[in-house]
Amino acid sequence: MIRTLQDHAVHLGIDVHMEVTVIALLTDGNRVCGAVAYDREHGRFRLFHARAVILATGGVGRAFSVTSNSWEYTADGQMLAYNAGAALQDMEFVQFHPSGLIPSGILITEGARADGGVLLNRDGERFMGRYAPEKLELASRDVVSRAIVTEMEEGRGFKDEASGYDYVELDLTKIGAEKVKARLAGIREIAMKFTGIDPVERPLPVRPVCHYMMGGLDVDMDGATGVKGLWAAGEAACVSINGANRLGANSTAECLVWGRITGAEAARHAVGKGPAAIPKEQVMAEEKRIFDGIFHGRGGTNPYDVRDSVQRAMEKGAFVYRTREGLLEATKAIQSLRESDYLHCDDHSKRYNTNLTNVLEVEAMLMAAEAILRCAVARTESRGAHARRDFPKRDDANWLKHSLAFYSAEETEGGHVRLGYSPVKITRYQPAERHY
Ligand SMILES: Cc1cc2nc3c(=O)[nH]c(=O)nc-3n(C[C@H](O)[C@H](O)[C@H](O)COP(=O)(O)OP(=O)(O)OC[C@H]3O[C@@H](n4cnc5c(N)ncnc54)[C@H](O)[C@@H]3O)c2cc1C
Repeated sequence: MIRTLQDHAVHLGIDVHMEVTVIALLTDGNRVCGAVAYDREHGRFRLFHARAVILATGGVGRAFSVTSNSWEYTADGQMLAYNAGAALQDMEFVQFHPSGLIPSGILITEGARADGGVLLNRDGERFMGRYAPEKLELASRDVVSRAIVTEMEEGRGFKDEASGYDYVELDLTKIGAEKVKARLAGIREIAMKFTGIDPVERPLPVRPVCHYMMGGLDVDMDGATGVKGLWAAGEAACVSINGANRLGANSTAECLVWGRITGAEAARHAVGKGPAAIPKEQVMAEEKRIFDGIFHGRGGTNPYDVRDSVQRAMEKGAFVYRTREGLLEATKAIQSLRESDYLHCDDHSKRYNTNLTNVLEVEAMLMAAEAILRCAVARTESRGAHARRDFPKRDDANWLKHSLAFYSAEETEGGHVRLGYSPVKITRYQPAERHY
C-alpha cells in the first residue's frame, strides 16, 4: 500500500521525499507551520514549510521486547505532536496478537487457526476449550492471548532456552500438507526461514506479541488534533473506531477511510492560504538540540542498552496482564532510563546515520512508554485488551471514558504526563459487555 501510494503520488507530480526522517514540528505560536527533518541520503537537515501537516507515522510496538511490528514503530511521529501540545488518547489499550513466532515475533496470521491450526500446551492439551469453549482458537485476540499467558504462567508452556521466552505450540500438522501449502504458503515459508520448522511436520513455537495500538493521537472525526494545523491518520491516530480492542482487518479500513477524510480536510485548510511563517529561532534551537546536544553529545549510557531496558520493562510491567504494582515498577524503570545520559551519538557520519535516528527513537519510546503506563495505572478496571489482575471487572459506571495524556514539562510521580479524560460518544449502539 505504501509503494502504491508513493507511485500514485509521483504519477500526480507530488514531491515524495523517501529518505527523510522528520525530527521536529515548527509552530508560529498559533499553528503548526512546518517541520525540520534529517535527510539521510544527503546527510543534512531540511526545512519544510507547511500550511498543514498530517502525521501518518504508525504505532509504538517496538517499545515491547517481542512485537510483530516493523523497526519503524517507535512512536517518534506521535511524539512530535505530543511535544507540540497534542493529546494522546487511550494509550493503555495495547493489542497483543496471540500467535507471534518465537523468538522473532513475526506474525502467524489468524488464518492459520481459521484453517484448522490448534494451540497446544506442554501436556499436548488443546487448552482453549477451558477458556472459550465455543470459539476455541478463534476467540478474540485478547482472550486467546490471556489464555496462552495463563498456560505459561501456570507451568504448562515450553521454554525457548536461547531467548528465554516461554511459548505454547501452534499445531498445523492436522490441516494436511496440501492445504497448508496451498492456503498458508507464506506462513510456511516464514516458519521455515525463521525457525527451521516446517509446519506440515512439526508444531510452531508461538506466544502473544505486541501488535497494535488502539490508542494514539487524539483526533476528531476529520482527523484534526487539538493543535491547529496538525492532523493525524492511521495507527498513529486514535479516531476511536477500535475502542479498547481492535478486530482484525479494521486497521486497513481505518487507514483507507481516515487517510482520505484527513487528507481532504488538511488540504482544504492549506489551499489558498499564504505562505507559512518560518520561526527562525525554533529552527536554530532544533539544530542546536540535534547537532550540539545529540550528534556531538557525550554520555556514559549506551542508547541501545536503554532501548533494550525499555522493552524489557514494558514486557514485564505492561504485557497482557497488568497490576498496579507491576505498572508502577515499570514506570520507575522508565523514569530512571529517561534520566540517564543516553542522548548521544557515537557515529558521526552525516549520511544514513541510523545511530542518530535510533537515539531519537529511543527518546520517543521512553515518552510513549510513560504515557502508556500512566494511563494504564489510572484505569482501575479491565476493558478490551487492558486486563488488570487487581481490577478484573469492566466498570462502566466509572470508566466509560477516554484517557487523555498530555506532555507536561513538570515531572510528577507518573513522569512527564498530565492525565485528562473525555466522554465516550455513544450513538446508535449501546455498549455491552462481551461474554463467552
Ligand atoms: C504483521 C502485521 C500484520 C497486520 N495485518 C493486518 C491485517 O491483516 N489487517 C489490518 O487491517 N491490519 C493489519 N495490521 C495493522 C496494519 O497493518 C497497520 O496498523 C497499518 O499498516 C498502519 O498503517 P499506517 O499508514 O498508519 O502506518 P505505516 O504503514 O506503518 O506507515 C508509517 C510510515 O511512517 C514512517 N515514519 C515513521 N516515523 C517517521 C518520521 N519521524 N519521519 C518520517 N517518516 C516516518 C515510517 O517509516 C512508515 O513508512 C497488521 C500489522 C502488522 C504489523
